[in-house]
Amino acid sequence: MIKIENVEKYFGNTKVLSNISLEISKGEIYAIVGHSGAGKSTLLRCINGLESYSAGSIQVQNHEVDQLQSSGLREFRKNIGMIFQHFSLMQRKTVYENVVVPMEIWKYPSESCQQKALDLLELVGLLDKKDAYPKELSGGQKQRVAIARALTLEPDILLSDEATSALDPATTNSILQLLEKINHTLGITIVLVTHEMDVVKTIAHKATLLSHGEIIATGSVEDLFLHPTQQMREFLGEKETLPTAGINIRLIFPRSSTDEPIVATMARAVDVDFSIAWGKLEKIRNGVIGSLVINVEEKDYQQIANYLNKQSVQWEVL
Ligand code: ADP
Repeated sequence: MIKIENVEKYFGNTKVLSNISLEISKGEIYAIVGHSGAGKSTLLRCINGLESYSAGSIQVQNHEVDQLQSSGLREFRKNIGMIFQHFSLMQRKTVYENVVVPMEIWKYPSESCQQKALDLLELVGLLDKKDAYPKELSGGQKQRVAIARALTLEPDILLSDEATSALDPATTNSILQLLEKINHTLGITIVLVTHEMDVVKTIAHKATLLSHGEIIATGSVEDLFLHPTQQMREFLGEKETLPTAGINIRLIFPRSSTDEPIVATMARAVDVDFSIAWGKLEKIRNGVIGSLVINVEEKDYQQIANYLNKQSVQWEVL
C-alpha cells in the first residue's frame, strides 16, 4: 500500500533522510519510531506530499507522490487522514462543526455530512459533547474530535504524528485503543510516528527505528524486541552486563511460550548448575514475550545445548 525506496531528503545542505526503504501493507499499524530530530515527521509528511523528497521513490496506492499535481494531489490527500500532537482544532467552532469541516470543503450534501459527523462522534465516544467547544474538553477528548474529523472523508490511511505525546499515560492508552478499534473495524492502515516505545509495544504490528535520518532497525514488533540489534538496545537504553567467564546463552520466549515453566523444567531435567545473568519480559499488544540469559560452565554447555534442541524454545549463544 505504501512503498518507500531509497528516499533521501535535504533541508538546504542538511541531509535529514538517508536511504530510507520500507513497505507498509494494507491494514497494518506501522510505527516510525526514534528520538526527537530523527526525521520521523519529515518522512510522514513526505508520505502525504506535504514535503517533497530529494531522491528515491514513495508510492502510495501505486501513485508516485512527488508526481501528483494539484487536483490529483487533492484527491490523494482526501484518502489520507492525519492527526497531530496538538490536535489542530478550530477553537471558535463546536465539536460537531470541527468534525463537519472537511465534508463542507468537499461540498458533501448537508444531510449526509450531518449523519456522518454524528456517526463518527459516536464511534469516538463523544456524541454527548457535540455542542461543546474545544476549550471545554480534556486533551484526550480533543484528540478524539481530531480523530473523528480525520475519518470524515473515509480515508484508507491514517497518519498519526505524535498523537499521544501530549497526553498522560491513561489517556494515551485510551486513544491507542481507539486507534486499534478504527484499524480493526474500518480496516484503515495506520502509520504512526512516535518517540515512545510503549506506544509501539501497545498497538504496532511492525516498526521502523530511525536515528539521524537513517533506518537502524525494521521488522515485526515481536522480532524487534526478541532479537534486538545493538543499536536497538542502545535506543531502548538497555545494557546487559553479562558474566565474562563460562558461556552465556540467551533463551527467547515468543508469545506462545512465556507461561511455560521452561527454565524450572530444564533445571530438573539436566543435572547441571547454571545462573541467570539477565532477563526481561515485554508486554506486546495482547501477549507477553521474554528473553533470559543464563550462564553455564563450558563443561556443561553440550548437555544444556542437547536439552534445548529438543525443546520448542529458541536459543542462541552470545
Ligand atoms: P522528528 O519528527 O524525528 O523529531 P523531524 O522530521 O521533525 O524529526 O526533523 C528532522 C530534522 O530536520 C531535524 O534536524 C529538524 O531540525 C530538521 N527540519 C525539520 N523541518 C525542517 C524545515 N522545514 N526546515 C529545515 N529543517 C527542518
